[in-house]
Amino acid sequence: MLKAVPGTNDVFAQAKEYPFREPVFRYIVQSAEEVLRGAGAQMIHTPIIEYLEVFQKGVGPTSDIVVKKEMFVLEDRGGRLLALRPEPTASIVRAYNEHGMKVWPQPVRLFTWGPIFRGERQQKGRYKQFHQVDYEALGLADPLLDAEAIALMVRIYKTLGLRGLEVKLGSVGDPADRLRYNQYLRGLFEPYAQTLSEDSKTRLETNPMRILDSKSERDQQIIAELQPRPMLEFLGPEARAFHEKVCHYLDRMGVSFSVDPSIVRGLDYYVRTAWEVHHAQIGAKSALGGGGRYDGLSEMLGGPPVPGVGFGIGIERLAIALEQEGVRIPADPGPMLYLAPLDEAAKIEALALAEQLRPKISVEIGYTPKSPRKALEDALKKGARYVGFLGESERAKGVITLKHLESGEQKELEPLQLHSLFEGPEVQ
Ligand code: AMP
Repeated sequence: MLKAVPGTNDVFAQAKEYPFREPVFRYIVQSAEEVLRGAGAQMIHTPIIEYLEVFQKGVGPTSDIVVKKEMFVLEDRGGRLLALRPEPTASIVRAYNEHGMKVWPQPVRLFTWGPIFRGERQQKGRYKQFHQVDYEALGLADPLLDAEAIALMVRIYKTLGLRGLEVKLGSVGDPADRLRYNQYLRGLFEPYAQTLSEDSKTRLETNPMRILDSKSERDQQIIAELQPRPMLEFLGPEARAFHEKVCHYLDRMGVSFSVDPSIVRGLDYYVRTAWEVHHAQIGAKSALGGGGRYDGLSEMLGGPPVPGVGFGIGIERLAIALEQEGVRIPADPGPMLYLAPLDEAAKIEALALAEQLRPKISVEIGYTPKSPRKALEDALKKGARYVGFLGESERAKGVITLKHLESGEQKELEPLQLHSLFEGPEVQ
């Protein structure tokens, strides 16, 4: 028997693990959508496959996604390489340029949600296919948008009932600041080059900042010993002023956060603002979500300069945090009425009656004739409020036998009575 690929999951109501229960997913997505639409953002769906270059150029050659070959790459019939999206921002910037959104009133604020693919080693809270809610504000380099994005992200978490959040805000500076910081780090780590993990040896050449984010314990030990100065100390005057404005705006909005001078984000395209949202129970190593500014990304994709800032919220990790905090999402209600045919002839009667009643109430039918006892059992399992029996004696009298499952009360109703019962306030 074939099984799902490890690290991918089926999402459905009865899924054993909480993060993969469809009502939990829906609760998160719908709440996020309400918050983001309420703030004037517009939904966009981009394809989950793009030309490989979109992501290769987008996430950058030194990001983990490229270095660790985490992208799922496929080839089209013409031999052109495509990839499943490992993050949504590059696609949205690609779409912004492709559809000439630059002539719209700026900023253009877009959001999406859907599957993301990364060939990472599977562990709790880390999957090969996971899902994100993603928000991007494009076309304006104003720290106001950074502060607003952080506030919106926090509001999504709070709307869901999550407490215990920590927003860690930093800045990765402008490219020139990073160049200086990387030079400093290279000097610092060079003597330890042989002791670093294989990945970090490469990072030492290409982008030493990424060493700080390494998941290798050995690297983290070296970092703990060396105590590198944080990126924030290397900001030039412009990036510093920008960062201070973001902090000021957040204070003014009453959004709590702490400045984390050592934040470095996983993707190469970030400039200036970078932040992560952490949650005690998820653990310090894995962020609940993160975001940042990426003013150079559009040019990396061959487009004009388009400043942008945005965030990604990992849906599964958020669901784990909700579960750990005991935020329970009510299960979906069962049908109002479960109509059970008791013999062959009643099957189509049940379907026809369901068709009439469905505009008013939710109706499920028992497709295969069964005994009243078995029908009752099925109705209970489905969480129905009423069960309706349709059999030979009902047909002879032109009625349906209706049983209210909670009270056990049972009566025979003619079709008209049945219609009016379900129009009454009692069943609303
Ligand atoms: P990133 O794009 O790496 O900043 O990730 C944004 C958010 O997506 C993270 O904070 C996580 O919540 C989630 N995330 C990233 N990678 C994974 C993964 N492999 N499995 C599950 N969630 C992930």
